[in-house]
Amino acid sequence: MRAKTRTFPNLHRQTLAVLGLSFILVSGFWCDPVQAAVSGEPGLVGRVIVVDAGHGGPDGGATSANGVKEKDITLAVAHKLALYLRESGAVVYLTRTVDTDLATDRDRAQRRRHQGDLRNRTRFVRGKHPDAFISIHCNAVPSPAWHGAQMIYMKGNDEAKDLAETMQQNFRDHLLPTNRAPDDMSTLYLLKRIKGPAVLAEIGFLSNPNEAAYLINPKYQNQVAFSMHTAILQYFANQENEPVEPDGAKSRDGSPPPKEDRQAPSQSNASEGQD
Ligand SMILES: [Zn+2]
Repeated sequence: MRAKTRTFPNLHRQTLAVLGLSFILVSGFWCDPVQAAVSGEPGLVGRVIVVDAGHGGPDGGATSANGVKEKDITLAVAHKLALYLRESGAVVYLTRTVDTDLATDRDRAQRRRHQGDLRNRTRFVRGKHPDAFISIHCNAVPSPAWHGAQMIYMKGNDEAKDLAETMQQNFRDHLLPTNRAPDDMSTLYLLKRIKGPAVLAEIGFLSNPNEAAYLINPKYQNQVAFSMHTAILQYFANQENEPVEPDGAKSRDGSPPPKEDRQAPSQSNASEGQD
């Protein structure tokens, strides 16, 4: 929910201007590109970002010991992340906005719900030609001891690796303890098919009671979303600061990726799991 705008009925405009200038001078606000972008400056203006809330509908994903489902946490965090990104000027698309999957009735009838869901998520994302893609998930393993968020990217995708490392660092600095490093994988269905900075964020272990208690807390979900948003801002700020190549061609200037082949992935590959 957006914070209500405060009003200052008893203060003169000049007073407000002086207060504002004082804030700028004290905080050094003007010289920090990330802070500037947070305030709505060009950081993400016009950037197309697709946010994928993992699972949904009949696919609950992992479940915590007290019955909270991964699909509900990923959706809550996705909405919060979308809000931050939009406030920074990004054009944001969510693969889902409610508790549903993306499989069709035909997929269900043919008992291919999972494959159809992944196929249609991929189509949706590629159809938006995003500048960045974030898929949100929670981890779960039989042991309750494992904990720590971990970013996943496609092996060989350097842009995805950069974003994953930036995001992992933000999780390390601002969220529950994690010593994990980003992991590169080559088999995840979505990441294999989406070019550019595409990251699957495992935001914590639902199988760890302590981490699960945080993950189901809206305040922590908000912190997760804010850290992801900050990482995306930092990623694009770094891109813009990279030097121009000697031949005059800009190196990774943040322009939209080339149009991808929009052909649907072959169904023979669709049996790979998302996580
Ligand atoms: Zn998942």
